[in-house]
Amino acid sequence: MPPTEAEGLGDSFYPFLGNGGYDAVHYEIDLDVDPAANTISALTSITAQATKDLEAFNLDLSGLEVHSVTVDGAHAEFWRSGHELTVQPASPLAAGSQFETEVAYSGSPEPLDDPGVPFAKMGWIHRDGVVYTASEPSGAMTWFPANNHPTDKATFEIQVTVPEGLVAAATGLLISETTESGETTSVWRMDDPMATYLAAVYIGDFERIDHGPLYDGGPITRDYLPRDAPAEMAQALSVTPDVIAFLEERLGPYPFDAYGTIVMPFPLGFALENQTLSIHGPATIGPGIIAHEAAHQWLGNSVSPDDWSEIWMNEGFATYLHLMFEAEHFGADFNDAMTQVHAWLSAEGIGPPRGIEIQDLFGASVYYRGAATLHALRLRIGDDTFYEILRTHYDRSAGGTTNTDEFLGIVEEFTGSDAVALVESWLYDETVPAFP
Ligand SMILES: [Zn+2]
Repeated sequence: MPPTEAEGLGDSFYPFLGNGGYDAVHYEIDLDVDPAANTISALTSITAQATKDLEAFNLDLSGLEVHSVTVDGAHAEFWRSGHELTVQPASPLAAGSQFETEVAYSGSPEPLDDPGVPFAKMGWIHRDGVVYTASEPSGAMTWFPANNHPTDKATFEIQVTVPEGLVAAATGLLISETTESGETTSVWRMDDPMATYLAAVYIGDFERIDHGPLYDGGPITRDYLPRDAPAEMAQALSVTPDVIAFLEERLGPYPFDAYGTIVMPFPLGFALENQTLSIHGPATIGPGIIAHEAAHQWLGNSVSPDDWSEIWMNEGFATYLHLMFEAEHFGADFNDAMTQVHAWLSAEGIGPPRGIEIQDLFGASVYYRGAATLHALRLRIGDDTFYEILRTHYDRSAGGTTNTDEFLGIVEEFTGSDAVALVESWLYDETVPAFP
Protein backbone atom coordinates (compact mmCIF):
# COMPACT_ATOMS: atom_id res chain seq x y z
CA MET A 1 0.00 0.00 0.00
CA PRO A 2 1.29 3.49 -0.76
CA PRO A 3 1.80 5.70 2.29
CA THR A 4 -0.83 8.14 3.46
CA GLU A 5 0.26 11.78 3.34
CA ALA A 6 1.08 11.61 7.06
CA GLU A 7 3.16 8.43 6.66
CA GLY A 8 5.45 9.46 3.83
CA LEU A 9 6.33 11.92 1.11
CA GLY A 10 6.14 9.38 -1.70
CA ASP A 11 9.86 9.25 -2.55
CA SER A 12 10.28 6.81 -5.45
CA PHE A 13 12.71 4.63 -3.49
CA TYR A 14 11.62 5.37 0.08
CA PRO A 15 7.88 6.20 -0.06
CA PHE A 16 7.51 6.00 3.73
CA LEU A 17 10.37 8.39 4.58
CA GLY A 18 9.43 11.89 5.62
CA ASN A 19 5.95 12.97 6.59
CA GLY A 20 3.39 15.31 5.07
CA GLY A 21 1.37 18.09 6.70
CA TYR A 22 4.17 20.19 8.16
CA ASP A 23 7.62 21.65 7.51
CA ALA A 24 10.36 21.12 10.09
CA VAL A 25 12.11 24.43 10.87
CA HIS A 26 14.54 23.61 13.68
CA TYR A 27 15.70 20.56 15.64
CA GLU A 28 17.22 20.59 19.10
CA ILE A 29 18.67 17.18 19.85
CA ASP A 30 19.89 16.61 23.40
CA LEU A 31 21.67 13.27 23.90
CA ASP A 32 23.05 11.90 27.14
CA VAL A 33 25.22 8.99 26.01
CA ASP A 34 26.74 6.06 27.89
CA PRO A 35 29.18 4.84 25.22
CA ALA A 36 30.27 1.77 27.22
CA ALA A 37 26.69 0.48 27.42
CA ASN A 38 25.74 2.08 24.08
CA THR A 39 22.61 3.62 25.56
CA ILE A 40 21.15 7.09 25.20
CA SER A 41 18.73 9.17 27.19
CA ALA A 42 17.43 11.83 24.85
CA LEU A 43 15.12 14.76 24.33
CA THR A 44 14.52 16.05 20.81
CA SER A 45 12.50 19.16 20.24
CA ILE A 46 11.23 19.96 16.74
CA THR A 47 9.89 23.36 15.75
CA ALA A 48 7.68 22.99 12.72
CA GLN A 49 5.03 24.81 10.73
CA ALA A 50 1.74 23.16 9.85
CA THR A 51 1.05 23.24 6.10
CA LYS A 52 -2.58 22.16 6.65
CA ASP A 53 -4.99 21.76 9.57
CA LEU A 54 -3.65 18.83 11.60
CA GLU A 55 -5.49 16.56 14.05
CA ALA A 56 -2.35 14.39 14.17
CA PHE A 57 1.00 14.14 12.41
CA ASN A 58 3.85 11.66 12.06
CA LEU A 59 7.57 11.63 12.79
CA ASP A 60 10.05 8.94 11.69
CA LEU A 61 11.76 7.08 14.56
CA SER A 62 13.21 3.57 14.40
CA GLY A 63 13.60 1.54 17.60
CA LEU A 64 14.19 3.14 21.05
CA GLU A 65 11.53 3.65 23.71
CA VAL A 66 9.42 6.81 23.63
CA HIS A 67 8.47 7.97 27.13
CA SER A 68 6.45 11.10 26.46
CA VAL A 69 5.54 13.57 23.75
CA THR A 70 4.38 17.15 24.25
CA VAL A 71 3.18 19.69 21.70
CA ASP A 72 3.58 23.33 22.76
CA GLY A 73 4.16 22.10 26.31
CA ALA A 74 0.91 20.11 26.55
CA HIS A 75 0.79 16.32 26.86
CA ALA A 76 0.15 14.63 23.49
CA GLU A 77 -1.05 11.13 22.71
CA PHE A 78 1.27 9.03 20.56
CA TRP A 79 1.43 5.58 19.03
CA ARG A 80 3.96 3.72 16.92
CA SER A 81 3.87 1.44 13.91
CA GLY A 82 7.19 0.43 12.31
CA HIS A 83 9.20 3.65 12.04
CA GLU A 84 6.09 5.85 12.09
CA LEU A 85 5.57 7.76 15.35
CA THR A 86 2.10 9.32 15.23
CA VAL A 87 1.48 12.30 17.51
CA GLN A 88 -1.96 13.60 18.40
CA PRO A 89 -1.79 17.01 20.09
CA ALA A 90 -4.30 17.90 22.82
CA SER A 91 -5.90 20.36 20.41
CA PRO A 92 -5.69 20.42 16.59
CA LEU A 93 -3.09 22.60 14.86
CA ALA A 94 -4.21 25.22 12.37
CA ALA A 95 -2.64 25.47 8.94
CA GLY A 96 0.21 27.99 9.02
CA SER A 97 0.76 27.79 12.78
CA GLN A 98 4.19 27.08 14.22
CA PHE A 99 4.38 24.42 16.91
CA GLU A 100 7.01 22.71 19.04
CA THR A 101 7.04 18.97 19.63
CA GLU A 102 9.20 17.46 22.36
CA VAL A 103 9.94 13.74 22.33
CA ALA A 104 11.59 12.12 25.38
CA TYR A 105 13.11 8.74 24.56
CA SER A 106 15.86 6.33 25.54
CA GLY A 107 17.39 2.96 24.85
CA SER A 108 20.13 1.40 22.78
CA PRO A 109 20.01 2.78 19.21
CA GLU A 110 19.97 0.01 16.60
CA PRO A 111 21.41 0.62 13.13
CA LEU A 112 19.10 -0.42 10.32
CA ASP A 113 19.28 -2.36 7.06
CA ASP A 114 18.73 0.13 4.26
CA PRO A 115 17.88 -1.47 0.90
CA GLY A 116 19.94 1.24 -0.86
CA VAL A 117 23.08 0.36 1.13
CA PRO A 118 23.46 -3.43 0.99
CA PHE A 119 27.11 -3.19 2.12
CA ALA A 120 26.68 -1.62 5.59
CA LYS A 121 24.28 -1.00 8.48
CA MET A 122 23.13 2.59 8.59
CA GLY A 123 22.40 5.06 11.37
CA TRP A 124 23.87 4.91 14.86
CA ILE A 125 26.85 2.53 14.99
CA HIS A 126 28.71 1.41 18.11
CA ARG A 127 32.05 -0.23 17.39
CA ASP A 128 35.26 -0.79 19.38
CA GLY A 129 34.30 1.81 21.98
CA VAL A 130 33.46 4.41 19.32
CA VAL A 131 30.05 5.77 18.36
CA TYR A 132 29.49 7.25 14.91
CA THR A 133 26.46 7.95 12.78
CA ALA A 134 26.30 7.39 9.02
CA SER A 135 22.72 7.91 7.97
CA GLU A 136 22.42 8.28 4.20
CA PRO A 137 19.67 7.74 3.17
CA SER A 138 17.40 6.53 5.99
CA GLY A 139 19.50 6.10 9.18
CA ALA A 140 18.86 9.42 10.95
CA MET A 141 15.69 8.01 12.49
CA THR A 142 17.80 5.52 14.48
CA TRP A 143 18.85 8.35 16.81
CA PHE A 144 16.34 11.18 16.57
CA PRO A 145 12.68 11.59 15.58
CA ALA A 146 12.52 13.54 12.33
CA ASN A 147 10.83 14.43 9.12
CA ASN A 148 13.38 12.14 7.53
CA HIS A 149 13.65 13.28 3.90
CA PRO A 150 16.01 15.80 2.21
CA THR A 151 13.07 17.89 0.95
CA ASP A 152 12.46 19.02 4.54
CA LYS A 153 15.71 20.66 5.65
CA ALA A 154 15.99 22.54 8.94
CA THR A 155 18.52 24.20 11.22
CA PHE A 156 19.93 22.13 14.09
CA GLU A 157 21.38 22.35 17.55
CA ILE A 158 22.95 19.14 18.81
CA GLN A 159 23.96 18.73 22.45
CA VAL A 160 25.88 15.65 23.54
CA THR A 161 26.85 14.68 27.10
CA VAL A 162 29.50 11.99 27.55
CA PRO A 163 31.68 10.76 30.43
CA GLU A 164 34.63 13.08 31.06
CA GLY A 165 37.72 12.03 29.08
CA LEU A 166 35.82 11.06 25.93
CA VAL A 167 35.45 13.50 23.05
CA ALA A 168 32.15 14.08 21.31
CA ALA A 169 31.87 15.78 17.93
CA ALA A 170 28.88 16.70 15.79
CA THR A 171 27.91 18.49 12.61
CA GLY A 172 27.95 22.28 12.89
CA LEU A 173 29.92 24.91 14.70
CA LEU A 174 31.08 24.05 18.24
CA ILE A 175 29.42 26.61 20.55
CA SER A 176 30.37 25.39 24.00
CA GLU A 177 32.08 22.57 25.85
CA THR A 178 31.75 22.29 29.63
CA THR A 179 32.81 19.62 32.10
CA GLU A 180 30.97 19.18 35.40
CA SER A 181 30.59 16.27 37.83
CA GLY A 182 32.52 13.90 35.57
CA GLU A 183 30.54 14.66 32.42
CA THR A 184 31.39 16.77 29.39
CA THR A 185 28.60 18.50 27.49
CA SER A 186 29.21 19.95 24.05
CA VAL A 187 26.84 21.96 21.87
CA TRP A 188 27.01 22.38 18.08
CA ARG A 189 24.89 24.69 16.01
CA MET A 190 24.00 24.41 12.32
CA ASP A 191 22.44 27.69 11.24
CA ASP A 192 22.17 26.69 7.57
CA PRO A 193 19.50 24.27 6.34
CA MET A 194 20.56 20.64 6.73
CA ALA A 195 18.92 17.42 5.53
CA THR A 196 18.38 14.91 8.35
CA TYR A 197 20.67 12.32 6.71
CA LEU A 198 23.63 14.72 7.02
CA ALA A 199 23.34 15.30 10.78
CA ALA A 200 25.98 13.32 12.68
CA VAL A 201 27.41 12.58 16.09
CA TYR A 202 30.75 10.94 16.90
CA ILE A 203 32.08 9.86 20.31
CA GLY A 204 35.42 8.28 21.18
CA ASP A 205 39.01 8.84 22.15
CA PHE A 206 39.51 11.57 19.56
CA GLU A 207 41.68 14.64 19.46
CA ARG A 208 40.30 17.84 17.97
CA ILE A 209 42.80 19.72 15.83
CA ASP A 210 41.74 23.34 15.39
CA HIS A 211 43.04 25.17 12.33
CA GLY A 212 40.98 28.36 12.76
CA PRO A 213 39.32 30.17 9.84
CA LEU A 214 40.45 28.93 6.44
CA TYR A 215 40.96 32.56 5.41
CA ASP A 216 39.73 35.91 6.67
CA GLY A 217 35.95 35.49 6.99
CA GLY A 218 36.13 31.89 5.75
CA PRO A 219 34.85 28.71 7.39
CA ILE A 220 36.35 27.49 10.67
CA THR A 221 38.31 24.33 9.94
CA ARG A 222 38.92 21.54 12.42
CA ASP A 223 39.66 17.83 12.13
CA TYR A 224 39.25 14.98 14.59
CA LEU A 225 41.78 12.16 14.68
CA PRO A 226 42.14 9.09 16.89
CA ARG A 227 44.31 10.23 19.81
CA ASP A 228 47.07 7.77 18.91
CA ALA A 229 46.93 8.52 15.17
CA PRO A 230 50.23 8.37 13.27
CA ALA A 231 51.57 11.74 12.04
CA GLU A 232 50.86 10.75 8.41
CA MET A 233 47.14 11.00 9.14
CA ALA A 234 47.27 14.71 9.99
CA GLN A 235 49.61 15.16 7.04
CA ALA A 236 47.05 13.54 4.70
CA LEU A 237 44.33 15.96 5.85
CA SER A 238 46.56 18.98 5.22
CA VAL A 239 45.38 18.93 1.58
CA THR A 240 41.98 20.28 2.74
CA PRO A 241 42.68 24.02 2.22
CA ASP A 242 43.79 23.29 -1.38
CA VAL A 243 40.64 21.25 -1.90
CA ILE A 244 38.35 24.02 -0.63
CA ALA A 245 40.18 26.65 -2.71
CA PHE A 246 39.83 24.46 -5.82
CA LEU A 247 36.10 24.00 -5.20
CA GLU A 248 35.43 27.65 -4.34
CA GLU A 249 37.02 28.68 -7.63
CA ARG A 250 34.52 26.50 -9.53
CA LEU A 251 31.40 26.65 -7.37
CA GLY A 252 31.57 29.84 -5.30
CA PRO A 253 32.11 30.40 -1.58
CA TYR A 254 32.02 27.39 0.76
CA PRO A 255 28.38 27.06 1.93
CA PHE A 256 28.71 26.56 5.71
CA ASP A 257 30.38 27.94 8.88
CA ALA A 258 32.82 25.06 9.36
CA TYR A 259 34.56 22.20 7.62
CA GLY A 260 36.72 19.28 8.57
CA THR A 261 37.23 15.54 8.60
CA ILE A 262 36.91 12.95 11.34
CA VAL A 263 38.92 9.76 10.86
CA MET A 264 37.78 6.57 12.57
CA PRO A 265 40.38 4.35 14.26
CA PHE A 266 39.19 1.36 12.18
CA PRO A 267 38.51 0.68 8.47
CA LEU A 268 35.17 1.85 7.08
CA GLY A 269 33.66 0.56 3.86
CA PHE A 270 32.83 4.13 2.81
CA ALA A 271 33.41 7.82 3.46
CA LEU A 272 30.43 10.12 4.01
CA GLU A 273 29.93 13.86 3.62
CA ASN A 274 28.13 14.62 6.91
CA GLN A 275 27.48 18.37 6.78
CA THR A 276 30.63 20.29 7.86
CA LEU A 277 32.34 17.16 9.26
CA SER A 278 32.94 14.30 6.79
CA ILE A 279 33.65 10.83 8.15
CA HIS A 280 36.49 8.72 6.76
CA GLY A 281 38.30 5.52 7.60
CA PRO A 282 42.13 5.46 7.50
CA ALA A 283 42.08 4.06 3.92
CA THR A 284 40.11 6.93 2.28
CA ILE A 285 42.10 9.99 3.30
CA GLY A 286 43.80 10.43 -0.08
CA PRO A 287 43.31 13.71 -2.00
CA GLY A 288 40.60 12.25 -4.28
CA ILE A 289 38.15 11.09 -1.64
CA ILE A 290 38.86 14.10 0.60
CA ALA A 291 37.93 16.28 -2.40
CA HIS A 292 34.89 14.10 -3.06
CA GLU A 293 33.38 14.58 0.41
CA ALA A 294 34.26 18.28 0.38
CA ALA A 295 32.58 18.74 -3.04
CA HIS A 296 29.41 17.26 -1.56
CA GLN A 297 29.20 20.20 0.85
CA TRP A 298 28.09 22.24 -2.20
CA LEU A 299 26.54 19.47 -4.29
CA GLY A 300 24.59 17.04 -2.15
CA ASN A 301 24.46 18.99 1.09
CA SER A 302 23.64 22.59 0.17
CA VAL A 303 21.97 21.44 -3.08
CA SER A 304 20.25 18.14 -2.34
CA PRO A 305 18.23 15.75 -4.51
CA ASP A 306 14.46 16.09 -4.10
CA ASP A 307 14.03 12.33 -4.54
CA TRP A 308 16.50 9.55 -3.75
CA SER A 309 16.31 8.31 -7.36
CA GLU A 310 18.12 11.58 -8.27
CA ILE A 311 21.27 10.45 -6.41
CA TRP A 312 23.52 10.90 -9.48
CA MET A 313 23.15 14.64 -8.86
CA ASN A 314 25.11 14.08 -5.63
CA GLU A 315 27.54 11.40 -6.70
CA GLY A 316 28.13 12.17 -10.38
CA PHE A 317 28.96 15.81 -9.61
CA ALA A 318 31.15 15.02 -6.58
CA THR A 319 33.00 12.30 -8.51
CA TYR A 320 33.60 14.62 -11.47
CA LEU A 321 35.05 17.31 -9.21
CA HIS A 322 37.14 14.84 -7.22
CA LEU A 323 38.63 13.30 -10.37
CA MET A 324 39.44 16.81 -11.59
CA PHE A 325 41.13 17.73 -8.30
CA GLU A 326 43.03 14.45 -8.22
CA ALA A 327 44.40 14.98 -11.75
CA GLU A 328 45.49 18.52 -10.91
CA HIS A 329 47.02 17.45 -7.57
CA PHE A 330 49.10 14.68 -9.12
CA GLY A 331 49.88 16.61 -12.32
CA ALA A 332 47.99 14.13 -14.49
CA ASP A 333 46.13 14.97 -17.70
CA PHE A 334 42.44 15.17 -16.81
CA ASN A 335 41.19 14.44 -20.29
CA ASP A 336 43.28 11.26 -20.36
CA ALA A 337 41.84 10.28 -16.99
CA MET A 338 38.28 10.72 -18.29
CA THR A 339 39.12 8.78 -21.47
CA GLN A 340 40.18 5.90 -19.23
CA VAL A 341 36.93 6.20 -17.26
CA HIS A 342 35.06 6.05 -20.59
CA ALA A 343 36.94 2.94 -21.71
CA TRP A 344 36.13 1.26 -18.41
CA LEU A 345 32.43 2.22 -18.55
CA SER A 346 32.22 0.81 -22.09
CA ALA A 347 34.13 -2.39 -21.31
CA GLU A 348 31.95 -3.06 -18.25
CA GLY A 349 28.74 -1.98 -19.98
CA ILE A 350 27.86 0.34 -17.10
CA GLY A 351 24.21 1.39 -17.46
CA PRO A 352 22.72 4.87 -17.11
CA PRO A 353 22.46 6.74 -13.80
CA ARG A 354 18.73 7.44 -14.24
CA GLY A 355 16.28 4.57 -13.96
CA ILE A 356 18.48 2.65 -11.50
CA GLU A 357 17.18 0.12 -8.98
CA ILE A 358 17.35 0.95 -5.27
CA GLN A 359 20.24 -1.46 -4.61
CA ASP A 360 22.34 0.49 -7.15
CA LEU A 361 21.90 3.78 -5.30
CA PHE A 362 25.65 3.85 -4.64
CA GLY A 363 26.77 1.94 -7.74
CA ALA A 364 29.16 2.73 -10.61
CA SER A 365 26.37 4.12 -12.86
CA VAL A 366 25.68 6.89 -10.43
CA TYR A 367 29.32 7.77 -9.65
CA TYR A 368 31.30 7.18 -12.83
CA ARG A 369 28.74 7.35 -15.60
CA GLY A 370 27.32 10.37 -13.75
CA ALA A 371 30.76 12.02 -13.82
CA ALA A 372 31.30 11.08 -17.48
CA THR A 373 27.91 12.67 -18.30
CA LEU A 374 29.26 16.01 -17.09
CA HIS A 375 32.50 15.51 -18.98
CA ALA A 376 30.58 14.79 -22.22
CA LEU A 377 28.62 18.02 -21.72
CA ARG A 378 31.81 19.97 -21.09
CA LEU A 379 33.51 18.56 -24.20
CA ARG A 380 30.47 19.57 -26.27
CA ILE A 381 29.99 23.13 -24.98
CA GLY A 382 33.45 24.22 -23.80
CA ASP A 383 34.80 25.18 -20.39
CA ASP A 384 33.27 28.66 -20.05
CA THR A 385 29.67 27.63 -20.65
CA PHE A 386 30.14 24.42 -18.68
CA TYR A 387 31.27 26.30 -15.57
CA GLU A 388 28.46 28.85 -15.99
CA ILE A 389 25.99 25.97 -15.98
CA LEU A 390 27.65 24.32 -12.97
CA ARG A 391 27.64 27.59 -11.05
CA THR A 392 24.02 28.37 -11.97
CA HIS A 393 22.96 24.86 -10.96
CA TYR A 394 24.51 25.43 -7.54
CA ASP A 395 23.38 29.04 -7.05
CA ARG A 396 19.74 28.43 -7.92
CA SER A 397 19.22 25.60 -5.45
CA ALA A 398 21.71 26.42 -2.66
CA GLY A 399 20.11 25.60 0.70
CA GLY A 400 17.38 23.57 -1.01
CA THR A 401 16.80 20.71 -3.41
CA THR A 402 16.76 20.09 -7.15
CA ASN A 403 16.40 17.35 -9.76
CA THR A 404 17.52 16.23 -13.22
CA ASP A 405 14.79 18.14 -15.06
CA GLU A 406 15.81 21.41 -13.44
CA PHE A 407 19.42 20.73 -14.40
CA LEU A 408 18.42 19.96 -18.00
CA GLY A 409 16.45 23.22 -18.01
CA ILE A 410 19.64 25.11 -17.14
CA VAL A 411 21.59 23.23 -19.85
CA GLU A 412 18.92 24.23 -22.36
CA GLU A 413 18.94 27.85 -21.19
CA PHE A 414 22.70 28.18 -21.73
CA THR A 415 23.18 26.00 -24.80
CA GLY A 416 20.10 24.65 -26.59
CA SER A 417 18.40 21.37 -27.27
CA ASP A 418 21.39 19.55 -28.86
CA ALA A 419 23.31 19.61 -25.59
CA VAL A 420 20.18 18.52 -23.69
CA ALA A 421 19.81 15.52 -26.03
CA LEU A 422 23.47 14.64 -25.43
CA VAL A 423 23.07 14.75 -21.62
CA GLU A 424 19.86 12.73 -21.86
CA SER A 425 21.60 10.01 -23.86
CA TRP A 426 24.19 9.73 -21.11
CA LEU A 427 21.55 9.69 -18.37
CA TYR A 428 18.98 7.39 -19.94
CA ASP A 429 20.40 5.24 -22.76
CA GLU A 430 21.43 1.69 -21.91
CA THR A 431 24.66 1.78 -23.99
CA VAL A 432 27.51 4.11 -23.08
CA PRO A 433 27.54 6.97 -25.64
CA ALA A 434 30.80 8.11 -27.25
CA PHE A 435 32.42 11.30 -25.93
CA PRO A 436 31.85 14.22 -28.33
ZN1 LIG B 1 29.76 10.77 -2.62
